[in-house]
Amino acid sequence: MKYIGAHVSASGGVFNAPLNAKEIGAKAFALFTKNQRQWVAKSLDDETIAKFKENLEISGILPKYVLPHDSYLINLGHPELEKREKSLEAFIDEVKRCDQLGLDKLNFHPGSHLKQISEEECLENIAESINKTIEQTKNVKLVIENTAGQGSNLGYKLEHLGYLVKNCVDSNRIGVCLDTCHFFTSGYDIRDEKTYDESMKKFDTIVGFEFLAGMHLNDSKPDLGSRVDRHDSIGEGKIGLEAFKLIMNDERIDEIPMILETPNSDIWSQEIELLYSLIKN
Ligand SMILES: [Zn+2]
Ligand SMILES: [Zn+2]
Repeated sequence: MKYIGAHVSASGGVFNAPLNAKEIGAKAFALFTKNQRQWVAKSLDDETIAKFKENLEISGILPKYVLPHDSYLINLGHPELEKREKSLEAFIDEVKRCDQLGLDKLNFHPGSHLKQISEEECLENIAESINKTIEQTKNVKLVIENTAGQGSNLGYKLEHLGYLVKNCVDSNRIGVCLDTCHFFTSGYDIRDEKTYDESMKKFDTIVGFEFLAGMHLNDSKPDLGSRVDRHDSIGEGKIGLEAFKLIMNDERIDEIPMILETPNSDIWSQEIELLYSLIKN
């Protein structure tokens, strides 16, 4: 089964997110559990948590199909120790928030070297941050997202994800989220059956489908390998509909949250319907 939704708004409170998801006919969703542009957030009170769980039940969406996203400020690979520790602290707080809400995943971007250290050193920093987080939290799977490789962001090569997965102290607590736009703009073609099979085979060899814990379904405004991160609506961009047809009929991608982060939220319900219509019986 495929579980498709979108990154919905949590404005007014996290408990609004499940209702926003239900409204667009989603079977999965992503949300920020705090303001993504601020370091510190008020901790979740019992009433908020209860209301979230109540609305989640109303939405009919199971907790395992919710894929919370962390703050954009966090850089687990930051070259400076002090700033890395600040990120780690904020990240651990985010993991605990997910756990409080009864959610079992947190999606994050690996980190950036900011051109101050090598990619290898930065990856070592990220691996260390991940392992420290695992030691200090429980229940929540840390889901690393591949990136377009814009600026000095790591995660644009499958080898980066593979390294982080392999160096994690607990393989049950680590997973990967594949963003189709980032995948494509970082150089992995998926536009037809042949290129899709090749790229997915690489994913399986270097990372492993057993670690695939979520997907971001986005078409791409920029070209293959451009390393620019700009999403487009499904079927409207440079990737095109064929890739999404292949994804929707790929059984290795069953039973995980599949999240739209496409630019026009007015058509999310149509995009969800379109994606479901691509499934062959
Ligand atoms: Zn994404
Ligand atoms: Zn993106």
